[in-house]
Amino acid sequence: MADNITRVSRFGFVNAYLVREDDGLTLVDTMIPRSGKAILAAAQRLGAPIVRIALTHAHGDHIGSLDELADALPGVEVMISTRDARFLHKDMSLDPGEPQDKLRGSWPGARTEPTRTLEPGDTVGSLEVVASPGHTPGHVAFLDTRDRTLYCGDAFSTLGGVATTAKVNPRFPLPAMATWDKPTEIATARALRALDPARLAPGHGPVVENPGGAMDAAIAKAS
Ligand SMILES: [Zn+2]
Repeated sequence: MADNITRVSRFGFVNAYLVREDDGLTLVDTMIPRSGKAILAAAQRLGAPIVRIALTHAHGDHIGSLDELADALPGVEVMISTRDARFLHKDMSLDPGEPQDKLRGSWPGARTEPTRTLEPGDTVGSLEVVASPGHTPGHVAFLDTRDRTLYCGDAFSTLGGVATTAKVNPRFPLPAMATWDKPTEIATARALRALDPARLAPGHGPVVENPGGAMDAAIAKAS
């Protein structure tokens, strides 16, 4: 695995990542509640402070330890897409131009306020914010411009094989069951594949090196 990435996992089924930068660590996602200790211990082993938290989307298994970590890390930057930031306040409204599908999955909200909201094309340290709606309306992925690692959140999962979350993978159905709009999610899967990532670092499952072929197969299966 590239030197910049440390995967922190709980029960092998949900991930957060510590991404090394010159000024400290960026934490991508926070997993389920009560994961803060494990994440802070991993950062301590790396000998660097967590200076920013970047969230792919507002589902409970990605923002679950946000409040706990924000309390433990005074001054930490907290970032989520402008669109999914509304879900942190439990504003569950859909915009007129969006598919009017049911919002699925868990939406616990958080009392932590983002210090900055993200738009596609923004950067978070070395990470470029990539639009990837479908699983949630404002889902974003993060592409590390140094090594082309794609932190894809729940746009793809790799637990039980590389799969989009547009179609239920019987070997690990949970992420797809929480997907908001499937056609949008398939378009996103294609767009992320076109980035030609060197590795895929998902919210659920192991990091996959050279994922292009597996992403193609997953897209073909879901289309
Ligand atoms: Zn999710």
